[in-house]
Amino acid sequence: MKSRHAFTTPLFLVLILSCREKAPHIITVTSEIPASSIGITLPHEHIVVDFIGADSVSPDRYDSDSVFIRVLPFLNELKKHQVQTFVECTPNYLGRDVRLLQRLSKETGINIITNTGYYGAAHEKYLPQHAFTESAEELAQRWIDEFNNGINGTGIKPGFMKLSADTGPLTETQRKIMKAGALAHLKTGLSIAVHSGDGNAAKEELEIFLENGVAPDAFIWVHAQNEKNFEMFKEMASQGVWVEFDYVHTETIEQYVGFMNYMKANNLLHRALLSHDAGWYNVGEAGGGGFRGFTALFEILLPRLLEEGFTQNEIDQVIKINPAQAFRVGVRKR
Ligand SMILES: [Zn+2]
Repeated sequence: MKSRHAFTTPLFLVLILSCREKAPHIITVTSEIPASSIGITLPHEHIVVDFIGADSVSPDRYDSDSVFIRVLPFLNELKKHQVQTFVECTPNYLGRDVRLLQRLSKETGINIITNTGYYGAAHEKYLPQHAFTESAEELAQRWIDEFNNGINGTGIKPGFMKLSADTGPLTETQRKIMKAGALAHLKTGLSIAVHSGDGNAAKEELEIFLENGVAPDAFIWVHAQNEKNFEMFKEMASQGVWVEFDYVHTETIEQYVGFMNYMKANNLLHRALLSHDAGWYNVGEAGGGGFRGFTALFEILLPRLLEEGFTQNEIDQVIKINPAQAFRVGVRKR
């Protein structure tokens, strides 16, 4: 009797604990943190990118120390603006370098989030050969493995999925990649950020996620600014999709004031995200080429929004509260 009791009690406790919903959390390149502590976040930026193509991409093509030295001041600059989290959106086969991201995060104290998934846009130039031959289930399993075991033996885990497609309609391979994303979401709870050529592509992506049982809330529509029809922002955001306007640049400020005014007028600020899609050390160019910094949002756009009558709470909603929701790890079923 005693031994039976000793066996059943811990098992009972294990069952209770595993049934309890885990508090929302974020996976960074150094650790797991509560979603509530994500702080001011840039949801779409880049550190290093290599456009050579999936066949030839390799970390041997650049000197990691040189990239580190080049990028460090741009990340340190973010501390003036209280940025705590930086989402690095460079996918595998386009220069994703998670060891470098981890080193930069440790040096600066800024959380960096990396990704799993494949980039099907640019006419599929950045897809490895197996992406054309494997099934959605097999591709999903590769991404699930990175989530479970870490990336390339580093133990560093992805905190979201980054996929992509050109303008709609999607190709068969791009559709398969979206299905793989849905399958991997249901196993990992990673959000699915999709570079989308236009609103029609984003709509088709959403349909594929819904067909496969994933809620709109797990989907981040990346590069929403590519869409000219603002009604599409409303259509997607009102269903629960995250609408990311991510090319804030010194020369695009008024366009972004327009996006934010539209979202506010439609009571959809709670679904909007803002970022620069900036950086990056461009492998193959001398010294990495021209590097665009990550501060136009804080130095120009946000002051403009305050002038437009936005409250600090509304701004915090977009730059702090929304990212905590959008990048939380948790399965969101339809
Ligand atoms: Zn990008």
